[in-house]
Amino acid sequence: MDCLFCKIVVGDIPSHKVYEDDFVYAFLDIYPSSEGHTIVLPKKHIAKFTDMKKKDAASLFFIVNKIARNLEKTMGLEGMNIGINNGEIAGQTVAHVHVHIIPRRAGDGEGNMHTIVELHPPTGNLAELAETIRRSFE
Ligand code: AMP
Ligand code: ZN
Repeated sequence: MDCLFCKIVVGDIPSHKVYEDDFVYAFLDIYPSSEGHTIVLPKKHIAKFTDMKKKDAASLFFIVNKIARNLEKTMGLEGMNIGINNGEIAGQTVAHVHVHIIPRRAGDGEGNMHTIVELHPPTGNLAELAETIRRSFE
């Protein structure tokens, strides 16, 4: 399997590990957006978050919560951005699902989730769209 993150999981490529259990592996991002930028991934190779089974996705976020709380305490953080680039179009560069935990500190920039992409014009037909999505669950 020619996957960078699979190689990190098995130790073929070195990493700065911060947490490991049977299901996940977490390490510091080599090009950190901020100090403590951490990547959390399932050990099993799955390309995208939307390819994951619901149970695996729940397990992944259970551990992300544990690690984020730990970083908060250990690094004395007031906040962090937690997210996934899901698919190439969304900026995913490594095709092995992973969650970014990016610590935030006062004065580190203005960015948040809303600065990733912006809709022009700012609103569409929200009622119609919500109805379509709701129906898709039926
Ligand atoms: P994404 O763009 O969401 O696919 O994120 C991939 C992340 O992996 C980027 O933030 C990279 O900085 C990080 N990365 C790439 N290679 C390594 C590596 N060898 N060790 C640690 N992090 C890496
Ligand atoms: Zn992989």
